Amino acid sequence: MSCKEEDHLYPLEILQQAGLRPTTQRVAILQFMIDEKRHWTADELFHQMRGSLPTLSLATVYNTLKAFVESGVLKELTFGDAASRFDLNVSPHHHMVCDQCGKLQDIYLEEVPVDWIQEAEKDHQFYTKDIQIELHGLCQQCFQLQVADSSKRTLGTTEA
Ligand SMILES: [Zn+2]
Ligand SMILES: [Zn+2]
Repeated sequence: MSCKEEDHLYPLEILQQAGLRPTTQRVAILQFMIDEKRHWTADELFHQMRGSLPTLSLATVYNTLKAFVESGVLKELTFGDAASRFDLNVSPHHHMVCDQCGKLQDIYLEEVPVDWIQEAEKDHQFYTKDIQIELHGLCQQCFQLQVADSSKRTLGTTEA
């Protein structure tokens, strides 16, 4: 986790700085993403926001996210064939992915293993433009659930 003090983000200011017209939908989507800091997919956002914003369409969500990415407000994250996720954190960082619940956590690496990458580039004649490191596993919550679950099971068998 970064210890960087997260300064207050106001949708209107962000849109203004990005040169985007602050339409109701844009402000609402951005405000939602600031309040609910997650790496949302367009589909998830649409389903979460539809209740409070009945005029919202999936196409609007897609178009808004696209405009946000193009103006540098969001970063689009792609994971293989899975749907893109959108990250409000546009500074260079990497992710820890929980394979159980899908939660993504931002990590900042002081040192990326550059030697190893340069060697791989040489071997494969590859020109790296961007480095995305993903750690896969279980988040704290899912890990604890799993531990609790297995100890419950052990208790159950000893009690029986
Ligand atoms: Zn999890
Ligand atoms: Zn992130």
